[in-house]
Amino acid sequence: MKRRALRDEPLIFERNPGRGRRGGYLLPETGIPPVDPGTVLPAVQLRPALDGLPALGELEVVQHFHRLSQLNFAVDEGLYPLGSCTMKYNPRVCEAAARLTGFTEVHPLQPDDQVQGALRLLWELEEALKTITGLAGVTLQPAAGAHGELTGMLMIRAALQARGEDRQEVLVPDSAHGTNPASATFAGYRAVEIASGSDGTVDLAELDRMMTDRVAAIMLTVPNTLGVFEHRIVEIAELVHSRGGYIYMDGANLNAFVGRALPSAMGADALHINLHKTFSTPHGGGGPGAGPVAVSPDLVPFLPVPRVVRDGNQTFHIVWDDERSIGPMRGFFGNFLILVRAMAFILGMGGEGLREMSETAVLLANLIRHRLQGAYHLEYTAPSLHEVVLDDSLQQEHGVSNVDIAKRLLDLGFHPPTMSFPLIVHGALMIEPTESAAPEEVEAFCDAMLQIAREAEESPDILHEAPVHTPVRRVDEVQAARHPVLRWTPEP
Ligand SMILES: *Cc1c(COP(=O)(O)O)cnc(C)c1O
Repeated sequence: MKRRALRDEPLIFERNPGRGRRGGYLLPETGIPPVDPGTVLPAVQLRPALDGLPALGELEVVQHFHRLSQLNFAVDEGLYPLGSCTMKYNPRVCEAAARLTGFTEVHPLQPDDQVQGALRLLWELEEALKTITGLAGVTLQPAAGAHGELTGMLMIRAALQARGEDRQEVLVPDSAHGTNPASATFAGYRAVEIASGSDGTVDLAELDRMMTDRVAAIMLTVPNTLGVFEHRIVEIAELVHSRGGYIYMDGANLNAFVGRALPSAMGADALHINLHKTFSTPHGGGGPGAGPVAVSPDLVPFLPVPRVVRDGNQTFHIVWDDERSIGPMRGFFGNFLILVRAMAFILGMGGEGLREMSETAVLLANLIRHRLQGAYHLEYTAPSLHEVVLDDSLQQEHGVSNVDIAKRLLDLGFHPPTMSFPLIVHGALMIEPTESAAPEEVEAFCDAMLQIAREAEESPDILHEAPVHTPVRRVDEVQAARHPVLRWTPEP
């Protein structure tokens, strides 16, 4: 790999190049009068000088950022089978749509009649998500999956309060994504873990025992984080509903069944959708994302405001207030341009295309399972949907861990799978190729994994030393956690 080492010089755009320094690009004058920093900041917060910062020319700045962009792995570079994260390709046409000035230059406080196109896009995206989930209402506000979970749980709490009920617990299976118990806690509930049965799905007898009148909801991931479908979901929903609880469905894994099954038919009351997974908008590095929530008719009155409504003349309006609403969860309509990308993706794929998408995602995950099972241990053997969770127990016999396997994959040109999650699989390697990977690339990944399994038996030192071809080799994780270096300090 022909990557160059990072030069650790920071950047400055120098107005008056002096002392042999180079000048860079100057921002145009804004016409806004300069403010004396001393009048707005206390003296202790003012830096007296910027001595020690080097100055660079424009080309060097471009080169610096280009080099930085090559120091990480990207979907645009190769297979990124990070299980549960659905790292799919973001078609460039979606980027083009999100850059249209009609979308980038609107303001959320413009009068409704000037932003009909933007409002229509929001309304139509809600309609598309209603069709995809079979549910009755959608909010586009949440900025992430976890934020959607909180939004959904707050709506459930509001509905229970409206019924005059005070329930305190939320059931969360032990295979759940960590955000589930966190969101339940944030919404004011006590998260209570419910153990999975031997096939990795919820144990109905256990649920029957735990589903008391203290339980507000169960948070279920479908398919769950093992990539296994909760095949008794309808019975689970009937049991929970019959005792006055709600079904919160974590829909982050929607890629497994879009176009083939409806969460509404499974009994979902609230479900978040990760647009930045299933609907291909870019993610990584913490955002921005979008985690819309779809809800059953029971929860519709509690949806956040503002909302977009359409009147009989096909004109769109914003409703800012609604007495029963849980209120705004984010400024205006969330990350609008992420929503534009998702809409472009949905329109580009069409209904048939989305159905084919989930079929292909499941097929490719099963190709991986078929090729790697045996060389890697598979703890839960129920049929896999969009991802497969293997583990390192066979390699552990040779002193090789999932970390070693992941590092070696980097050398071989692939992003590692998700590791050590779900917690119920020790040494987990959770692999999700997504439908956008070319079958040849998936086969090449399997070849690499099989090579690593052979190396674990024959020459495990190669694995302990990996990665050797990346810009940064194995980092000292203990040192990084205990003594993080979070800012650049000029050399004296
Ligand atoms: C990704 C994911 C989430 C959280 O989504 P964010 O957008 O990262 O907050 C929740 N549940 C599951 C199953 C996920 O895969």
